[in-house]
Amino acid sequence: MAVTHRSGPTRHAIDTVCIVGGGTAGWMTAAALSNKLQGLPVAIHLVESEEIGTVGVGEATLPHIRAFNNSLGIGEQELMQATEATFKLGIEFCDWGRIGDRYVHPFGDFGPVVNELPFYHYWLRLRSLGDTSRLDEYSFPVMAAENDRFRHPSADISRIESTFGYAYQFDASLYAKFLRRYSEARGVKRTEGKVIATDLNGETGFVDSIRLDNGDVIKADLFIDCSGFRGLLIEQALETGYDDWSKWLPCNRAIAVPTESRGPLGPFTRATARKSGWQWRIPLQHRVGNGHVYCSNFISDDEAEQVLLDNLDAPRIADPRPLRFTTGRRRLSWNRNVVAIGLSGGFLEPLESTSIHLIQDGITELIQLFPDKAFQQSDIDEYNRRMALHYERVRDFLLLHYVATQRDDSEMWRYFRSMALPDSLQEKIDAWTTRGYIIKYEFGLFLPPSWIAVMMGQNLMPRGYDRRADALREDELVRKASAVREAVLKAVRETPEHADFIRHAGAAASLKAATTAGAQ
Ligand SMILES: Cc1cc2nc3c(=O)[nH]c(=O)nc-3n(C[C@H](O)[C@H](O)[C@H](O)COP(=O)(O)OP(=O)(O)OC[C@H]3O[C@@H](n4cnc5c(N)ncnc54)[C@H](O)[C@@H]3O)c2cc1C
Repeated sequence: MAVTHRSGPTRHAIDTVCIVGGGTAGWMTAAALSNKLQGLPVAIHLVESEEIGTVGVGEATLPHIRAFNNSLGIGEQELMQATEATFKLGIEFCDWGRIGDRYVHPFGDFGPVVNELPFYHYWLRLRSLGDTSRLDEYSFPVMAAENDRFRHPSADISRIESTFGYAYQFDASLYAKFLRRYSEARGVKRTEGKVIATDLNGETGFVDSIRLDNGDVIKADLFIDCSGFRGLLIEQALETGYDDWSKWLPCNRAIAVPTESRGPLGPFTRATARKSGWQWRIPLQHRVGNGHVYCSNFISDDEAEQVLLDNLDAPRIADPRPLRFTTGRRRLSWNRNVVAIGLSGGFLEPLESTSIHLIQDGITELIQLFPDKAFQQSDIDEYNRRMALHYERVRDFLLLHYVATQRDDSEMWRYFRSMALPDSLQEKIDAWTTRGYIIKYEFGLFLPPSWIAVMMGQNLMPRGYDRRADALREDELVRKASAVREAVLKAVRETPEHADFIRHAGAAASLKAATTAGAQ
């Protein structure tokens, strides 16, 4: 194969980028590009339509969002005040394995690594000896979440309080507004208007320009499609195609409603399994986000709304809002000179709060593979390969929640119990059930502790453990385990209540409802 050597700056550098859409995806992309391309002669233009609006949901995030904000120089206090955010230590899953079960998928580890072996192997051995402690008792973030407490992780890696990460629960519309201010201050030009047509180049098939309802024509070298489910450029103009994953993730509708904030401000999102889907509860400072994600094959829209309304724990403050979607991903995230980021690139349902993270992945990969006007096909292929893996890994992890279950009390749960799994997931489950081993994926977003939390939490127990766990004398093992549990309990006792921490950290925007209701 011929190797060509190039040196010096390319003469074909991109001069103009046009982002279509101003939801979370559009403004995250604008903010990141305005920061990372700072100092380069690249004009960034964002077009959005207030009349069309945004999807208006998306409140729970993953810890990686902190790296995104940090890399843009956004401070936590400022972010939390602007977005009414709370802290998130993980997700509490109720009724997934069996009705009545509950567990937390924490952003952190279960116990320390002992002799190079993750602690859960020792716990499995302890269990085989008759010990009844829960694995949760070895996890600081689980125990802190259960006790409504929060602190930042310790920088001292010898301490149990260093063994976790955290994310935010925030108002995604406020986050987009915040990033809009950030981006405009760094030169991003925003145009209000509705895109009504796309002009393709007759020779290359690339998008040359978009036309707005006010007659404006916007040209650019690179277009980023952040137009949401409609995929204005990637699908409507370029007909890229969509891989429909409904056979694995059949939930296709949601109904969302906010309620007043009442009681403790739990530092976690709750996902409660229902007969034909599941219900979310996400506490913010000023309100609680709720929604029922369901599969229309198994329940009517009216019934789904009733399930949601019957299971709210506080008065609602707005009317229920329906949403429809098809789980899956765009066949190519990058096609010609269009990159799809956000819902235009795919959607896998919000069970593990992964959508905003996939936006972040799309942006990070794009910055790494940022094109010039030649649009090197090998870079485009690499981007598409990486994004396909990001989506597939998330799909497998979401599917695990539905298939690692003993429930058979409804048509939906019976559907999952008879499902043929993707090979990648089946291999992972087999390695776990035979010997407690977690196969690591390339580009796997969720690390072994996440898989362990869900599998154990949903009663998918391994038949064996790593034999190296037998090397520790039994009395030593018992002593060590008890010391870890003590350390976790002590650390949790010394950790402030979540709402107090937010106030004292100066990150409270309102906390009005939580304060008054908490006193009731
Ligand atoms: C039920 C549900 C719950 C969710 N929960 C979570 C969660 O907890 N955590 C999480 O990470 N994610 C969640 N998501 C996903 C999250 O909402 C989205 O990933 C995120 O909001 C990004 O959306 P977006 O910016 O791609 O699209 P949108 O918000 O739909 O924005 C599209 C933009 O394109 C513009 N636009 C469209 N057409 C045109 C046009 N013709 N002309 C001009 N502008 C146009 C619109 O005006 C808008 O600005 C959830 C999604 C759903 C459906």
